[in-house]
Amino acid sequence: MDVAIHIPRAAAEIIGKLKRHGFEAYVVGGCVRDALLGREPGDWDITTPAKPEQVKAIFGRTVDTGIKHGTVTILRGRTGYEVTTYRIDGEYEDGRHPKTVEFTPDLEEDLKRRDFTMNAMAYNDDRGLVDIFGGQKDMEARLIRCVGRAEDRFSEDALRILRALRFAAQLDFEIEEETEAAARRMAPNLVHVSKERIQTELTKLLLSENPDQIRRVFDCGAARYVSDTFAKLDPERIAMGRGLPAKKSLRWAALLRQLEPAEAKQVLRELKLDNDTIAGVGTLVERWRLPAGRTQAELRRTMSRMTPELFDDLLRLKEGIMEYDRIPESREDLARIQADAAQIRARGDCISLKMLAVTGGDLIAAGMKPGRQVGELLARLLELVLEHPEKNTKETLMDAVSALADRCKA
Ligand code: ATP
Ligand code: MG
Repeated sequence: MDVAIHIPRAAAEIIGKLKRHGFEAYVVGGCVRDALLGREPGDWDITTPAKPEQVKAIFGRTVDTGIKHGTVTILRGRTGYEVTTYRIDGEYEDGRHPKTVEFTPDLEEDLKRRDFTMNAMAYNDDRGLVDIFGGQKDMEARLIRCVGRAEDRFSEDALRILRALRFAAQLDFEIEEETEAAARRMAPNLVHVSKERIQTELTKLLLSENPDQIRRVFDCGAARYVSDTFAKLDPERIAMGRGLPAKKSLRWAALLRQLEPAEAKQVLRELKLDNDTIAGVGTLVERWRLPAGRTQAELRRTMSRMTPELFDDLLRLKEGIMEYDRIPESREDLARIQADAAQIRARGDCISLKMLAVTGGDLIAAGMKPGRQVGELLARLLELVLEHPEKNTKETLMDAVSALADRCKA
């Protein structure tokens, strides 16, 4: 079947330049898959028999992104195009990286090393689609199928098991029977895969349109290889639906909300997520089942405990999960809270130490000894203005400080 893919100009120019220097070149892998599916490809990867040194000589300015594996990146504007030499992956050590990679002049060999039939297609304008393993047919049947024997492919690199689940969730595809059976059998091999690689796939799955499919990680017996704490999740209670914005901290929080906050953070630490995400998820997991604020004062107190962005996420999380889990608010309550929060922000009510009308410096200038007590007093003043925002003036607060000091002396 004839298909045409529109290759973006910069990628087409790279392919054209390689061709003028005597090397064939194709776009390959995920971008071909996505283009055929009518999805916007994330990046356009190029494959060619030219060796990395040859590619570098032809293009001059390149970046050695994965030179050992034959990849150099060519920058065009803000976009990087990875150009990778046709290669055969050598023997795998313990299902980690291939011990060696061997370059080859044969495109077919390069396609053979790729994980799934839908990811093993190449395309250029001269030759059209190169689809040796039936990727197009599998995509029409909405099937994810390994290239070659699934069991062998999963034992070479068990991450492919999680990639299969991730693509199934992203594309709403099924996993072909033999591939699925092999995934179950080979799941224990995930013990050899790094936590970072595992995390990347799980995060992509969670950010897909079918985040609840993360359950399949449990179904195929892979959960314990993600992390011990992750395996504590009850898959029956995983439910977040499609209503949540596709944001990393929100989706992870929705997934981990059945755990204790400390456990949720533990999972993310084990998976090497960044500290911002870990802290945010910790707060969200702790607070989704608590009232955000029944009065404006309570609401200010909640807002004072987190960044504005995290507070907005907390409301989004509550809204996204309320059809699956009991939260203290009704839909009307959430709308009211949103309106109140907007008001609090518009009025500029003090909700942080930064917004307080007095500073530590003011207290010291008024005769207080520098030290821990300054911080404690500021915290008490903040509590006071959270309750009574009109008291957030320097005069009122300094009066309050003197009153407190008198009371201490008495
Ligand atoms: P995405 O849309 O998330 O980028 P992708 O399929 O492009 O998905 P990449 O990780 O960018 O995934 O990899 C590009 C290509 O490299 C894949 O399409 C596939 O052909 C090949 N590939 C990537 N990871 C593996 C792997 N673990 N085993 C075999 N082939 C792989
Ligand atoms: Mg890609």
